[in-house]
Amino acid sequence: MARLERVRRGRWLAVCLAFCLVAGQGLAVRTAPELPDPGNPPMSRDQQKQLGLQAAGEVYKQMPVLPDSSRETQYIQKLGKRLAATIPPERSWPFQFHVIAQKEINAFALPGGPMFINIGTIQAADNEAELAGVMAHEMAHVYMQHSAKQQEKASLLGGLAGIVGGIAGRMGGVWGTLAQSGIQFGAGTLILKYSRSDEAQADEVGAIILSKASYNPVALADFFEKIEKQGSSGPQFLSDHPNPGNRRAAIEREIAEWPVRKYGHESPEFAAVRKDAASVRAYTAQEIADGAKSGRWAAENPKNGAVFSEATSGGSATVGTASQTNVGSVPTVPVTDVQPSSIFQQTDLSTMKIVRPENWDVMQGQQQGSVTIAPRPGVSGSAVAYGVVIQVVQPPSANMSVQQITAAIVRSLESSDSRMKQSGEIQAITVNGVAGGSVELQTVSPLADEEGKAQPERDWLVAVPRGDGNAIMIVFVATQRYFEQMRPTFEKMLRSVQF
Ligand SMILES: [Zn+2]
Repeated sequence: MARLERVRRGRWLAVCLAFCLVAGQGLAVRTAPELPDPGNPPMSRDQQKQLGLQAAGEVYKQMPVLPDSSRETQYIQKLGKRLAATIPPERSWPFQFHVIAQKEINAFALPGGPMFINIGTIQAADNEAELAGVMAHEMAHVYMQHSAKQQEKASLLGGLAGIVGGIAGRMGGVWGTLAQSGIQFGAGTLILKYSRSDEAQADEVGAIILSKASYNPVALADFFEKIEKQGSSGPQFLSDHPNPGNRRAAIEREIAEWPVRKYGHESPEFAAVRKDAASVRAYTAQEIADGAKSGRWAAENPKNGAVFSEATSGGSATVGTASQTNVGSVPTVPVTDVQPSSIFQQTDLSTMKIVRPENWDVMQGQQQGSVTIAPRPGVSGSAVAYGVVIQVVQPPSANMSVQQITAAIVRSLESSDSRMKQSGEIQAITVNGVAGGSVELQTVSPLADEEGKAQPERDWLVAVPRGDGNAIMIVFVATQRYFEQMRPTFEKMLRSVQF
């Protein structure tokens, strides 16, 4: 090696003798590559992380994700950490690595660091460097903040957001922002569209990451070429990552500038994991789309998906959950989609009867003994943006007055959502001849406004003690903006209650 270096310097000297006068920098010694400055898109790092977590939560609902304990995930996490270690901490992201049980070749990384690798990708790689190549390329998209920069471009161009976003583009809130960042969910498909210049840059930066982790950067080009040859098994990946031109030549040109170094790291687990991957039940894109529609993946996915639930669902109107409503957890809908019909139907909930607008459905609530009556677009997971939540609750002690029971429910609601605040005094009310308590509360709606900003929510709580020592809690929920418009419906529903 020392001799090689001497020969190399000798050659540089010779070159310099010829060109020194015109290019003094020809004397420079080749230096190890450094990651470029990723720049500062207007979307903050925190916003990018939040978007990534929201989208990751959606992935767990729409795709079969292997549990973290699986052999494949353990291995991918180890490989991912090795690559992430090449990024200086001040410019790094909270990378996460997950494996999707999908046959086709694909991999994607979300803003802020969550990365998903299809099991088909592990099987298609001939060596660890190829797999590391795809992951380094994805990591480079995160490092360079390409999604956030796309959003910047989209907002500069205005109308582009609608074209990029399609249906998602009509939504405000987080999903609108995701769409503007080139992230869309179809049925079971996450689409991230990068430009050719993003692609060239992700290759360039990915090659540096690979080199620093002792993998031959050319393996990245090897793998992309392989996907192109395979044709049908990686079309999504290829349409998301359009070929910027000759990847191989670009990478070879890039590494020719670097000091000669020995690559070839290959961990012993690769071959065993690749073999094991063949025995994992994997699904086709079509099966995954069907499962997303039927809710299969949301039901089957491992509990570790819950790490995202904080970011994807709230519980503004549930008692006893310590969840906070997150703005954007209910996709923005035009108010016409949640507007109550003037035709009412009788609904028998066994403990009580109530009428409801015919376009508002009866749904099992998040809590036991709880029912939500709401327009479907106004609800997502446990978050209710418009509708009525009805729940049987047990007061903390017997012989409490109506006033005390109502106050206890208010405290419970406030403790489950730190932004929930009582507004005004508890008033007496009579429901179906029974004395109850009535009070209004305010919090932040899970629904962002048209500009994607948080908006206030108004809740009207009515509590009615029952003879059996329990009480019935009815919470009418709407955004502050449309509460008065919905109030006649809420009042009609309350007047119809029969125990
Ligand atoms: Zn790419």
